[in-house]
Amino acid sequence: MAHNAKAIPSKLNTISNETSSSSDAGTLALALKLTPIGENNMRKKSAPPTGAKRKLKTLPLEFETFEDAKAKRIQLIRRLAKSATPVSNALANELAACRKQSRCGSGACPVCNRAFRLRLASEVQRVRPDAFEVIRISLIPASFRVEVYDLPAFDLLRWVSSRRRAFQRALPKEALFVGGVDISLNTFENGDPHWCFHLYGFVLLPKGWGVQNRSKMRRMRAELERRCPPVPKHRRIGAERVLTVGALDSENFDGAFLYAHKGGFYRRSRYAYTREKTGKRSTNAEPQAIPRLAALELSIFLARYRLGSRLILIGFRRHGSRFDRFTLCRERDFQSSQNDG
Ligand SMILES: [Zn+2]
Repeated sequence: MAHNAKAIPSKLNTISNETSSSSDAGTLALALKLTPIGENNMRKKSAPPTGAKRKLKTLPLEFETFEDAKAKRIQLIRRLAKSATPVSNALANELAACRKQSRCGSGACPVCNRAFRLRLASEVQRVRPDAFEVIRISLIPASFRVEVYDLPAFDLLRWVSSRRRAFQRALPKEALFVGGVDISLNTFENGDPHWCFHLYGFVLLPKGWGVQNRSKMRRMRAELERRCPPVPKHRRIGAERVLTVGALDSENFDGAFLYAHKGGFYRRSRYAYTREKTGKRSTNAEPQAIPRLAALELSIFLARYRLGSRLILIGFRRHGSRFDRFTLCRERDFQSSQNDG
């Protein structure tokens, strides 16, 4: 799980940028014409050239293969077709029509989400500074909870933009941020199922900022608590960690930041146990597959939004609306402010 520091792979693999979903400029035009919903078709003629050769330096070890994503899509189409409501039928048809030459771009499509993540990885690696310090943040905000079957009433865009503003206020002015929203179906002792909207991301700071400086880290943590309050104590389950702020070796950033926009969704099954050494009560969480009906609810919810809607960028600007063709640029100089000591 993204919130768990153990989930970050210690070994990273290096691969070339092999985007099996890419197509040339001619087929791109076709794809834009055929893209049904979920993608903004208003691509300006003056958009920056996107055919430039890009090198992807690093991906997480367990980055899904194209075949994995395709298998997930087939399973989802079958489930949607089985449930046979007008909404699920429409989404099943949309996903079934997703082809190399005309990607569906649906927020629910595992293949398109993979293409989005590949693009994000290469763009972030291209525009990030060469030297920087990194802080990894995991935060379960007070407004994390949505009841099962209530996703249709939840406004993801509004929630993301208000959390983004909160982060912008909390972080130092010179900081860059790449983060996103992870959605899980949480249960405790197999009861109380609910959707959890969890923020996860990486703060990039100029070299020398001082991520090893405890008082600076405490201040950042306090600002996050103030601007983007995590789940209050009385609503936490056991020893649940609702806010973690920790330094990450910048060498591990390229392989880790895609956790901010994951390729899959899970059920987090929490249970209580007693620690052998201390006798203290604690809780643990295991990732499991989301049950069928809830998985359908989540897919239909995700399909309402463009790919990238769960992404939170601060200090970067995104150009281009295509999920697999956008470019990023940095909005400002990346320098330490004079009076941050
Ligand atoms: Zn697709």
